[in-house]
Amino acid sequence: MNIQNYLLCLPAFLTVAFGYFSPYHHRIALKIQELTPGMPQPAFTLRDYQQDAVDATLKHFRSSDDPAVIVLPTGAGKSLVIAELARLARKRILVITHVRELVEQNHAKYAALGLEAGIFSAGLGRKEFSHQVTFASVQSVARNLTSFADTFSLLIIDECHRVGEDEDSQYQQVIRHLRTHNPGLKVLGLTATPYRLGYGWIYRAHYRGFVRSEEPRVFEKCIFELPLSHMIRNGYLTPPEVIDAAIAHYDFSSLSPSDNGHYPERELNSLLARHPRVTRAICEQLEELAQAREGVMVFAATVAHAHEIGGYLPADQTAVITGETPGDERDRLIGMFKERKFKYLVNVAVLTTGFDAPHVDLIAILRPTASVSLYQQIVGRGLRLSANKKNCLVIDYAGNGFNLHHPEVGTPKPATDSEPVQVFCPGCGFANIFWGKTDDTGQVIEHYGRRCQGLLEMEGEKPQQCDYRFRFKECPHCGAENDIAARYCQSCSEAIIDPDDLLKRALQLKDARVIRCAGISLSANNECVTVTYHEEQGEELRERFHLDRPAQRAVFNSLFGRRCNAGTSPRQFRTASDVMAVQHLLPAPDFVIARQSGKKGRQAGYWQVRERLFDYQGAYRKANEM
Ligand SMILES: [Zn+2]
Ligand SMILES: [Zn+2]
Repeated sequence: MNIQNYLLCLPAFLTVAFGYFSPYHHRIALKIQELTPGMPQPAFTLRDYQQDAVDATLKHFRSSDDPAVIVLPTGAGKSLVIAELARLARKRILVITHVRELVEQNHAKYAALGLEAGIFSAGLGRKEFSHQVTFASVQSVARNLTSFADTFSLLIIDECHRVGEDEDSQYQQVIRHLRTHNPGLKVLGLTATPYRLGYGWIYRAHYRGFVRSEEPRVFEKCIFELPLSHMIRNGYLTPPEVIDAAIAHYDFSSLSPSDNGHYPERELNSLLARHPRVTRAICEQLEELAQAREGVMVFAATVAHAHEIGGYLPADQTAVITGETPGDERDRLIGMFKERKFKYLVNVAVLTTGFDAPHVDLIAILRPTASVSLYQQIVGRGLRLSANKKNCLVIDYAGNGFNLHHPEVGTPKPATDSEPVQVFCPGCGFANIFWGKTDDTGQVIEHYGRRCQGLLEMEGEKPQQCDYRFRFKECPHCGAENDIAARYCQSCSEAIIDPDDLLKRALQLKDARVIRCAGISLSANNECVTVTYHEEQGEELRERFHLDRPAQRAVFNSLFGRRCNAGTSPRQFRTASDVMAVQHLLPAPDFVIARQSGKKGRQAGYWQVRERLFDYQGAYRKANEM
């Protein structure tokens, strides 16, 4: 935003939420100083993106009371953005977060502007609630709601990915309480990680025009997001130097994460126990690489693994922190690590966020991660700027195969060889990012997307998610397309039969046959297309579609044409030669159910295909699965 626009929009906003404008005058002075070389620098200059984040907040809340999120990577200086917003405000502001260190840190940044604010945190032994701006811990506020009976205009939640849907959570209690005193309360969240495994995106829609969550969310909209790459490119973070783990590495590909992205500890341990030499070799390589390094962080897969690693590294130079390490012991070890009293800090999932030791210049990843964000958080621990630090070595011994600039996909990585791929919506043209696979030329050959995430802006209406589905189940009652996991039709509300029930029933029938379909092949004779379903052991089922008969053509198109090329290019075939030209793009169902047909007593009754189950996700094993 240029300065004129900024000045134009600011007063309007101030009257809405932030009150009157002593800060406005200050802002002009600050801008002029910035623009005038030779004048003394103000104590406090925002970086360009910090100013953009502030501007985006002002713009959003000028027209909306919807709770909003700003996404800034670690090291981007969230506390300065918070300080500037608090400074611009006139009415009462509450800034809450979950740990006292952050309360202190945010308060300190604000105080550095020469402004005064209160701290309300039992952990810090201060309970001040009468200042215009209060920095508080959410626990202390939730336990003392009556102290916050005034009208607050803005609630800022730092590390807001911790806010969940649970109505009884402390965050929800605070939000609800402040709203009873001011229904127009503005709620702004800040975080580096707007996505949680097992929960999904913490906001519903993104300002670049896409939907992140089909479920309701506490935060309606992400209004500003800064990618890590911007920070690295502009020298605000140390460039990572990713090197291959050529000597030894783990193969976690036989394990699959749960829906919430966790790998089962017992399976991890038994896999790791089978490869003691790998761990030892990795530690030897680390020791060698670490000679030219200041601080090494090792991310282990399990507690037992962490202690094993700790045992291989030099004893007087290594500490291990796990979820079982008592809080004060942990603080003591972190303190010593920051003072460089030892070189290696091994941890299990505990130091991914909120931990800050800028001298770290070697990150070793010895654990599988199912999410891009988690990988980026881990690497982010080594990207803080520090004197004489030129880069940060990153070695992924777990073959996670992510890169720092991959966008978050929003679901756990479905298979070890999956990668984020771009898939255009045939309905609205939106470029979706899904998990998928590409061939050597970069062409997408497979993707796991279900529904388009494009946000469609309609004049005078609330923006809505595009309803194009790449994968779907057709409602047997009304024909509407539903998510493959839907139990009730979104259009007519009738129950949709569970594919597992269908399979179970068919398997119990004498005159039914069920095959696990490993692939299809097609042949054509004039306008008659024959689809052959191949079972993994070589058995077959066949069915014919006469494309010159409208009813059969419609069935063929709704089964195969609609799903052409994984739903990315749906087709309405008119002739058999149209079909044969793109036969390699037609999908195979996972199961096919047939019933015996033909007269009783006649031996050669034939199998008539009744059901083809596409995109099956149930309890039965699919073809070519273990
Ligand atoms: Zn779309
Ligand atoms: Zn229906």
